[in-house]
Amino acid sequence: MQPDAGVIRQDAGCEVPTIDKKATRPMFKALLLEKNDTGFHAGLTELDEARLPAGDVLVAPTWSTLNYKDALALTNRAPVVRTWPMVPGIDGAGTVVESSHPDWQPGDRFVLNGWGVGETHWGCLAERARLQGDWLVKLPAAFTPRQAMAIGTAGYTAMLCVMALERHGLQPGDGEVLVTGATGGVGSVAITLLSTLGYRVVAASGKAHEADYLRGLGAVEVIDRATLAAAGKPLQKERWAGVVDAVGSHTLANALAQTRYGGVVAACGLAQGMDLPASVAPFILRNVTLAGVDSVMAPRALRQAAWDRLARDLVPAALERIAEEIPLDQAIARAADLMAGKVRGRLVVRIV
Ligand code: NDP
Repeated sequence: MQPDAGVIRQDAGCEVPTIDKKATRPMFKALLLEKNDTGFHAGLTELDEARLPAGDVLVAPTWSTLNYKDALALTNRAPVVRTWPMVPGIDGAGTVVESSHPDWQPGDRFVLNGWGVGETHWGCLAERARLQGDWLVKLPAAFTPRQAMAIGTAGYTAMLCVMALERHGLQPGDGEVLVTGATGGVGSVAITLLSTLGYRVVAASGKAHEADYLRGLGAVEVIDRATLAAAGKPLQKERWAGVVDAVGSHTLANALAQTRYGGVVAACGLAQGMDLPASVAPFILRNVTLAGVDSVMAPRALRQAAWDRLARDLVPAALERIAEEIPLDQAIARAADLMAGKVRGRLVVRIV
């Protein structure tokens, strides 16, 4: 717990007065998730800055977003939140307000993804967050905070997936690349990135009516996700040079079974399920590589590399096709929509 604003605190061995923010901005707007004897409650509220958790950087997120994980937290659908009460929001972008971290000065533009923020540490669906400077990445000049949140954890994870495919040797011209969970956040950005880089992208989606959207992002073909959703043979007709999978379960097992000799599959999600009912046949008979992708605890250097690649490879205008803007007070209702599969692309949350 942070000391009250205006009191004297110990900092690196010397006493320094904290800035008295109470006179100018004692409270901030935030979503708050609570669990107690009466059950789960999510609401928009005003909180005292003094309640913010410990951290060496105070930030003002001007934009946040709703990822799959945020939607799980806001609807209490899975144990995403580990401590209560919780300010949700695993992503944020905006400006540094105060800092005792050597890399960050007031006014610096930051982007934050993961590190347990919104799960174990108060997050960015709020006008203020106190974070660790080591968690922040410099916001590339190519992006506004709003564009950074149109990318968000989903888009940065899509970039990590593309980088994983490249690390295992995939190149444009090698053959078709499958993207599952195609109309979702990870899928939409993955299709955009891969097609911009020159890959032939095939999108697997359950939303036939979104085929034009997916082709607009750069998919050359859209297949029905039902063709991948049920149990299949351990080895199937070889098709994919690479796969970005946001779905898991039978979909991932079938994608592996259809991957060509020497191909690579980047697995990052579990929209269908956490299970992997597969065999080792694709690995030992076709030299297929399964590359796991985690964004939450990815080291800082890898994050910065991913954001630098996004700045280089993602045309900001493409984000407008993917992003839908909502105000903070609609976040709870739209989280339910996201869980119900009614959201396309990315929801960007305007904080101020
Ligand atoms: P979204 O909800 O935006 O997209 C998920 C998409 O998956 C949906 O749009 C839908 O696409 C498809 N889908 C949903 N339910 C099913 C189902 N039962 N069977 C098959 N497909 C389904 O989520 P995100 O894109 O933000 O995240 C996708 C996954 O990646 C999630 O599981 C999330 O937890 C995970 N993730 C992991 C990260 C990591 O660090 N490893 C980081 C970010 C996300 P369509 O309608 O087109 O079929």
